[in-house]
Amino acid sequence: MFDIHQPEIQFALHAVRQAALLAQTIQTEMVTPALTKEDRSPVTVADYAAQALVGALLSEAFPNDVVVAEEDTGALRQAAAAHTLEQTTHFVRQILPQATPESVLRWIDHGRVDAAQRFWTLDPIDGTKGFLRGEQYAVALALVVKGQVQIGVLGCPNLGHPNLTEALQLELNGPGSLVIAVRGQGTWSAALNEGQNFQQLKVSDQADARAARLLRSVESGHTNVDQIGAFVQAMGIQTPPLSMDSQAKYAVLAAGGGELLLRLLSADKPGYREKIWDQAAGSLILEEAGGQITDLDGKPLDFTPPRSLSHNRGILASNGVLHSAALRALRTIQA
Ligand code: AMP
Ligand code: MG
Repeated sequence: MFDIHQPEIQFALHAVRQAALLAQTIQTEMVTPALTKEDRSPVTVADYAAQALVGALLSEAFPNDVVVAEEDTGALRQAAAAHTLEQTTHFVRQILPQATPESVLRWIDHGRVDAAQRFWTLDPIDGTKGFLRGEQYAVALALVVKGQVQIGVLGCPNLGHPNLTEALQLELNGPGSLVIAVRGQGTWSAALNEGQNFQQLKVSDQADARAARLLRSVESGHTNVDQIGAFVQAMGIQTPPLSMDSQAKYAVLAAGGGELLLRLLSADKPGYREKIWDQAAGSLILEEAGGQITDLDGKPLDFTPPRSLSHNRGILASNGVLHSAALRALRTIQA
C-alpha cells in the first residue's frame, strides 16, 4: 500500500475526491436534455468550481505551495460573467459553506504560477467534451518536483471500474473511480464515493500486438485519425480502437483494460504541445502500474517547461511490453 498518512497524499486524495463529486453534481444538475450543443456553461461552471475547491483546500493544507492550473479568473471577473460566478459560488458552497464570489475568485487564482521547482498541476475538468456528452471526464491533480511527477490522482466520476477487460461496457453513472499513483509506491484505485478501500492496479501483460487494444481521443481534432489507421495496420492490431475522453484512458491502461494509447499530432495543429496538467497525473498512474510513457520519438516526458511539454511531441503510452514495437510502427508510418 502507499503511504496514506503522508500529508500531500491525504490532501491530493481529499481534494480530487471532493472536486470530482462536485463536478458530478454539476453535471447531473446542469447538463440537461434542453441544453443546446453550443452551450458550454455547465463545463465552465464545473471547471471554475473544481479549481476553486482545490485552491481553497490547498491554501489550508499547504498555504505556500504553488499551482500550474488550466483556469484563471480573467474572464470570470468581467461583468458579463456575473451569472457564471454566481452559479460557481452556489456549487462551491455545497462543500464550503463560507464561499462568497470574492473568495471563489481568490481560490481559483490561489498560488498560480507557470512553472516552479515544486508545484501542483491541476486540470479541474479534463475531457470537457466528455463531460458535456455525459461520457468520460476526470479531475486531474499531480505534484511535480524538479520536472518529475511524484504523486498523481485522477477522479473519474463516470468510470465504474478502470478495468474494462471483463466488461467492455463503461459503467456510466456508476460510482466512479478514484485512482492514485505515488512514485515508488504503485498505482491504486478505490470507489470515488467511499472510504479507503484501495486495490492495486497493474497493466496488461499482453505481448501479442494482434490482441492489443488501442485507446484514443474521441475528438478527432485532438489526434490524427488517418495515422491511427496506419498505425493499427503497421502493428497488426485486430481489435478496433476504443475512443474515450480525458486521462481516464490512463486509468484504463493502468488497470489492464487496454495496451496502447496514442496522442498523435492533428493535421491542422502539428505544432501542438501537450499541456502539463493533461499528462502529469495520468503518466505516473500508468508508470507505477508497470506501463511506459514517452513522446512519439521515444523521449521521456519533461515536465520542467512552463505549462506545456515543449520538448516533447505527442504521446505514446503502453503496457511496456509493446512499447518498442509501437515506436517502430510510428517510425514506419512517419508519425
Ligand atoms: P482528449 O480527451 O483525449 O481528447 O484530450 C483532452 C485534452 O486535449 C484537453 O484537455 C486539451 O487540453 C487537449 N487538446 C486541445 N487541443 C488539442 C490538440 N490540437 N491536440 C491534442 N490535444 C489537444
Ligand atoms: Mg484537459
